Amino acid sequence: MAGKGPRVIEGASIAARDGRIVFVGTNEECAAVCDAAKSIDLEGRLVTPGLIDCHTHLIHAGDRAREFEQRLNGVTYEQIARAGGGILSTVRATRAASEDDLVHQALPRLDALLAEGVTTIEIKSGYGLDIGSELRMLGAARRLEHERKVTVCATYLGAHAMPPEANGNADAYIDEVCEEGIPAVVSAGLADAFDAFCERIAFSPAQVIRAFMAAKKAGLKIKLHADQLSNLHGARIAAEHGALSADHLEYTDAAGVAAMQRTGTVAVLLPGAYYTLRETQLPPIEQLRRHNVSMAIATDYNPGTSPLTSLLLAMNMASTLFRLTVDEVLAGVTRNAARALGRLDEIGTLEVGKRCDLALWNVEEPAQLVYRIGFNPLHQRVFAGDVAPSPSGRGPG
Ligand SMILES: [Zn+2]
Repeated sequence: MAGKGPRVIEGASIAARDGRIVFVGTNEECAAVCDAAKSIDLEGRLVTPGLIDCHTHLIHAGDRAREFEQRLNGVTYEQIARAGGGILSTVRATRAASEDDLVHQALPRLDALLAEGVTTIEIKSGYGLDIGSELRMLGAARRLEHERKVTVCATYLGAHAMPPEANGNADAYIDEVCEEGIPAVVSAGLADAFDAFCERIAFSPAQVIRAFMAAKKAGLKIKLHADQLSNLHGARIAAEHGALSADHLEYTDAAGVAAMQRTGTVAVLLPGAYYTLRETQLPPIEQLRRHNVSMAIATDYNPGTSPLTSLLLAMNMASTLFRLTVDEVLAGVTRNAARALGRLDEIGTLEVGKRCDLALWNVEEPAQLVYRIGFNPLHQRVFAGDVAPSPSGRGPG
């Protein structure tokens, strides 16, 4: 796939040098210009750009399986929250974990994604909610790049939830994020972007805007969890502040979509959370299409509302639940996901000059990647021109 829309080239060759793509085209064209030191016959397999999971909360300690079970047994969300459960249980566990613990608990989750051809992943902080713990989460996210062949884009999600010690004073907490959190993260060089959760149960539009101004002033790109549970005009706010992406968007209205079109803000769709919450309000897919807003798809892996470490399943859900076409789904985990991270000049398509991150598949046509459920047809993963070894040391990597 290369160029504007996902396009399949039959009988294709790709050549790379020093980790970068130097040729994409037909075998005949390649034979005329390429002088390969080493070549691999892919025997007709489909090759796509390495997949990009552009929205995850991969770093945290503990899990919420017990709460999941309690809810199935009739315990209400309120009862669980009053007993200290929900997001605050993840905050407690994450604060108590060392950076090593966070890395080691995240690796199996990362490996599950890499085994499906992921070569770039975005990871958010947001379960520390104090500066030391947030820095530790971001440090752990960065360390994953040394543990595996993967690119990590780290996002400071300082405004995810209110820490318990803020006693409900969201304005004072946002002051702390703006005056201490953002400068600390930027001076440590640990984040590429800033993110917030704009929702009645989280932070108001005014608070989000205040944090956006501080983040932009400090040189961070911005993203937003927008309009997931209600329409607080998060998509419009994100777009008007030049956000790379607005994510979730179930309740986004026409004005929000139009604003995203004007600024080229990417719509990141997260069907795993929609599924887990048994949501019924669909994101405005048809309007996004009509306005040519780029749509990306991600797992939104998190321990509470999307414990999903399969991007292939998110792709299937995006088709089945959101009715995205196969072309839209493939663009959503490659080109548009790269755009949502501000990295389209580097990754996301098979074009000369970009990094040679590839997924090689045991399928004949792209629809087979989206259509099957719970099946992984990855043959091999290539990261920066290197055939990546399997995370487990065997089988496809
Ligand atoms: Zn999220």
